[in-house]
Amino acid sequence: MEVIELDDRLKEECGVLGVYTQPNSNEKPEAARIGFFGLFALQHRGQESAGLAVSDGSKVRFRRGMGLVNQVFDEAALDDLPGHIAVGHTRYSTTGSSELRNAQPIFCQSQVGDIAIAHNGNLINTKELRADLEAKGERFDSSSDSELIARIIVRNMHLGPEGAVGEVMRVAKGAYSVTVLTPRMLIGFRDPTGIRPLVVGTLGEDGYLIASETCAFHPVGGKPVQELEPGEMVIIDSQGMRFACGAKSERKAMCLFEFIYFARPDSDMYGTSLYTARERMGAQLAREHPVDADIVVPVPDSGIPAALGYSAESKIPFREGMVKSRYIHRTFIAPNQRMREMGVKMKLTALDNHLAGKRVILVDDSIVRGTTTKQIVKLMFESGATEVHVRITAPPITHPCFYGIDMADKTELAAAKMTIPELEKDLGATSLGYLSIEGAVAAVGKSKDHFCLACFNGDYPIPVPEDLRKDTLEKEGPVGEMAAISHGQLKLLNM
Ligand code: AMP
Repeated sequence: MEVIELDDRLKEECGVLGVYTQPNSNEKPEAARIGFFGLFALQHRGQESAGLAVSDGSKVRFRRGMGLVNQVFDEAALDDLPGHIAVGHTRYSTTGSSELRNAQPIFCQSQVGDIAIAHNGNLINTKELRADLEAKGERFDSSSDSELIARIIVRNMHLGPEGAVGEVMRVAKGAYSVTVLTPRMLIGFRDPTGIRPLVVGTLGEDGYLIASETCAFHPVGGKPVQELEPGEMVIIDSQGMRFACGAKSERKAMCLFEFIYFARPDSDMYGTSLYTARERMGAQLAREHPVDADIVVPVPDSGIPAALGYSAESKIPFREGMVKSRYIHRTFIAPNQRMREMGVKMKLTALDNHLAGKRVILVDDSIVRGTTTKQIVKLMFESGATEVHVRITAPPITHPCFYGIDMADKTELAAAKMTIPELEKDLGATSLGYLSIEGAVAAVGKSKDHFCLACFNGDYPIPVPEDLRKDTLEKEGPVGEMAAISHGQLKLLNM
């Protein structure tokens, strides 16, 4: 028997989806097609693999593959997935195992029929959970923490969905927003801290949709109804939709980085439009770090709303300073040394005539390793900018994330290694200003105690075991060629 090591370094950023249409409708059930378009809208949450599992009421079929949603599915593949219930997943991981067996949805056979699950987040007690389940005779097909959730559900399905999900919430520690499909049921649930998002809503007259973000609803004619509460589950079957409490929430801590960068700007979270929240972050940044300059330039695309906010507040004109090529994708490019040297130039072209002789305020969402910002500052100067004032809407990222955002480890985080004046110098910037935690939180319109701020202040809402922290520091580091590429480079190549 193959022994699969549990890989604690897996850091997954993911999008999850669930589709329920009524089985008795006269039209051909289209759950796979709806799932496909929904996943398309969640592509930004993961570009490494994609998958769908579909039930026709008795049989569950699934397909997963490496690559983008439209590389994994074509018409024929969707035709091979008949049925009225679906769960879907997009996955991104920059370190750890990049292999098909870690792609999702995860498929398990059980006494109550086959089930499939899609998970966004990261568990932090995987070792104990796995040892416990192995002692009970469980065997694993993958190295992913998501399979642990699947196995716990399968083992407890005889208790009904409330009991099975309740058991997950009792034993699993960490971040998880999950969709589950059984032959006749769709379930969604969110961990008791609510770190990762999950929204439920309607789909046409009598269908339902669950998704990581509201942006998945619009393309398929869905209507978001509500964000699941931390510790809450939703169960959807032929009787309709019902909610239940899986565990009491001691502390709500939604990831602030979702608001700053990760989620799509056309999504709403905590009832706020992310585009608007990012504009407000830009305006607040202008109040916290004003500077005399000629133009406000966004780093496309993620810096655009904040740059507009900065410009409106400071009355300094907004001007695009670079154009992003849309069609380069990382799967077309071998990540070799030459590519790394070319860096952002492969994706961004500076508009010299906008920049020459100008004092530029450069607005972006975040600095992780700092590689990208450094290259863009250089590009601005090469194009004739006389000053480059870098303004960032994320507060300094000083701590790793253990809950499902790949932030690199502490030794690689630019703001953990250097003071702000040192980093300013390292980036080659004329000045550097970060938005404060208070400023970012106020822009979303909720009080500080609604958020996970761990990557900014080290306050981990779910205590991270010491060995996992230590493991991360010791085991992290470049894993293969891809790991030497910074987030920004991946971001630029991905979209
Ligand atoms: P770098 O500082 O070179 O690592 O890249 C930072 C840029 O990458 C930021 O401006 C973000 O737009 C993007 N980014 C930040 N965090 C992530 C993440 N976890 N996954 C993907 N892209 C990210």
